[in-house]
Amino acid sequence: MIEMQEVYKKYPNGVTAINGIDVRINQGEFVYVVGPSGAGKSTFIKMMYREEVPTSGTILMNGVNLAKLKMKKVPLYRRNIGVVFQDYKLLPTLTVYENVAFALEVIEAPQKYIKKRVMEVLDLVGLKHKARMLPNELSGGEQQRVSIARSIVNSPKVVIADEPTGNLDPETTWEIMKIFEEINNRGTTMVMATHNRDIVNTLKRRVIAIEGGKIVRDEQRGEYGYEN
Ligand code: ADP
Ligand code: ADP
Repeated sequence: MIEMQEVYKKYPNGVTAINGIDVRINQGEFVYVVGPSGAGKSTFIKMMYREEVPTSGTILMNGVNLAKLKMKKVPLYRRNIGVVFQDYKLLPTLTVYENVAFALEVIEAPQKYIKKRVMEVLDLVGLKHKARMLPNELSGGEQQRVSIARSIVNSPKVVIADEPTGNLDPETTWEIMKIFEEINNRGTTMVMATHNRDIVNTLKRRVIAIEGGKIVRDEQRGEYGYEN
């Protein structure tokens, strides 16, 4: 479960990006985060994977208060959260297999388990046959599928995605959404910031709209609500 209580985030330059947020997201929910550019969506999401720390307030992620998490415990915490970015952030010199295996190598999981698990998640995203390729040999959609495989290889309870389809064409976008739906169907919480009106209005899920650092709308099976 994700819970924010009276969360504020003011950047060192004086910009208040999050201006008093209270929200609760239950295990297994699928949530879209929408709103205009500069509304605070990325900051909201970055605080969930402890890329940013709130200036005040409480953020509980499965019982862990991120506002108070010690620096040395951050890597351990991050292992339990899957993160997907708009620009994939794959390691260019590693193969598809190695990119996905990386998180398991770090925790020194047994090689036999790593192989089984990596092939399992590559199969889920439909890329088992490209395990030996390098990221730059793949299309954008394929690279995003690798990054999704990487995000779930540790079986996280939560997957957080910031504009994951922002660089993809409509057809590829739907393929990516099918994979997120499948991950969510298996019980993983999905939190996704998006500007994609069609997705939000078609795959109806909870919609949290942020404007000026505040939640201005929170609806089950909500609409996108903006023109683009
Ligand atoms: P969104 O994702 O909705 O576009 P952001 O969370 O990126 O919104 O930004 C919210 C506000 O915080 C904006 O005014 C933005 O310029 C500012 N901001 C974002 N990141 C930083 C940062 N690292 N330092 C200073 N200001 C920032
Ligand atoms: P098998 O099908 O041979 O039982 P598993 O994939 O279940 O293989 O396990 C293979 C090895 O990986 C075992 O040593 C097991 O303890 C280990 N293992 C299983 N699950 C995990 C996990 N989540 N993290 C780390 N190691 C694991």
